Amino acid sequence: MNFDVTDEHKMIRDMVREFTVEVIVPRAEEMERTGEYPYDIMTQMGELGIMGIPFPEEYGGSGGDWVGMHVCIEEISRGDLTLGAMLDVTTSVAGQEIYAFGTEGQKKEWLTPIARGTNIGAFALTEPNSGSDAGALRTKAVLEGNEWVLNGTKQFVTNIGLDNASVVLVAAMSGKNKKGNIISTFIVPKRAPGFQLGKKYEKMTWHASATHEVIMEDCRIPKENLLGDPTRGFAQHLAVLQTGRISIAAISVGVAQACLDNALTYAKERTQFGQPIFNFQAIQFKLADMAVSIELARNQYLKAAWLKDQGRKNTFEASVAKLYASEMVEKVASDAVQIHGGYGYMDEYPVSRYYKGVKLLQIVEGTSEVQRMILSRILWSQ
Ligand SMILES: Cc1cc2nc3c(=O)[nH]c(=O)nc-3n(C[C@H](O)[C@H](O)[C@H](O)COP(=O)(O)OP(=O)(O)OC[C@H]3O[C@@H](n4cnc5c(N)ncnc54)[C@H](O)[C@@H]3O)c2cc1C
Repeated sequence: MNFDVTDEHKMIRDMVREFTVEVIVPRAEEMERTGEYPYDIMTQMGELGIMGIPFPEEYGGSGGDWVGMHVCIEEISRGDLTLGAMLDVTTSVAGQEIYAFGTEGQKKEWLTPIARGTNIGAFALTEPNSGSDAGALRTKAVLEGNEWVLNGTKQFVTNIGLDNASVVLVAAMSGKNKKGNIISTFIVPKRAPGFQLGKKYEKMTWHASATHEVIMEDCRIPKENLLGDPTRGFAQHLAVLQTGRISIAAISVGVAQACLDNALTYAKERTQFGQPIFNFQAIQFKLADMAVSIELARNQYLKAAWLKDQGRKNTFEASVAKLYASEMVEKVASDAVQIHGGYGYMDEYPVSRYYKGVKLLQIVEGTSEVQRMILSRILWSQ
């Protein structure tokens, strides 16, 4: 057993923390209010090697690991959770799927710019009538000569509205076998003929995250853009979404830590009844409970990421991390607002933004109910 952070992870944490404090924190409120995507910040993140931490240098990565990537996601999310979500989608999901299942040519062409951060990746599984029941998707892919022709609509696609988003991984039905529909995954460039962005969603929060509908009408891509095993596209997606769950846990921990930091500072500064409100045990206990749950959630996402780095199974640990952390952060954000009293409800205090933003973490990468279904199935099989 060794709980020490390695020198490499410490270096990543310190570097990203400094970047977050200096570059992201001062801009976060404006990004959320205006919904403007921080391209200059993304460029800097790419230059720091952040998007490619877990990928080998030959594909534009930094040659690090998934623990390092998630330490980084936590720190970035401490400043702004939409940038944490951008990293989850481009690195943990899209980049990883190309790295894990792509050919050498696909890695060189599509992963390298994603790992360098010059381009951003997206993934499109969800459809109007298939969300949690993701296998019920209806988008079709038919092979015509040397091209796949895709028809269908995907919804809620994160990152795809960014100008620097180059590619989206699309899950589609490519045939049938005895078990039912065969689902394959395709690398679809945004510039492909027949590909268009649908509406941009007006969201509750996460305004600086470019979420769009995607419409494919006779969308033509080269035959070689099929990713991995044509009969196992769904399994491939699920495999990388498992890492996405660890990423959502790391985002949750980052935001929860920001809530605690702000609430602690405020509790020491705000005086009522002639003394700092920190002196009241009711406030101290809230802060102590916040610290406990953050610590537990952090340990759990690090354990899941570490298991992944060891090449070991982490389905249970990733779901525990995602479920616990995303529900934990809702309570922590609520308590942070409570400690701020009426000021916590005002947009000038960041805890108001955190509180509004965290609900989504219980929905994306498999809802809390889906995580409980996964965990129950594992318990049943034991
Ligand atoms: C802002 C945003 C960004 C997103 N980004 C992406 C993206 O980049 N790519 C992508 O593919 N998708 C993305 N999604 C989609 C997201 O993954 C889905 O919204 C999520 O999987 C839930 O699907 P749904 O919204 O259709 O809800 P539904 O599946 O319709 O679920 C509705 C409710 O029923 C519950 N439920 C469903 N089935 C069961 C069951 N069997 N037992 C118990 N409860 C059940 C759910 O937990 C939920 O509470 C995004 C969503 C949002 C809101």
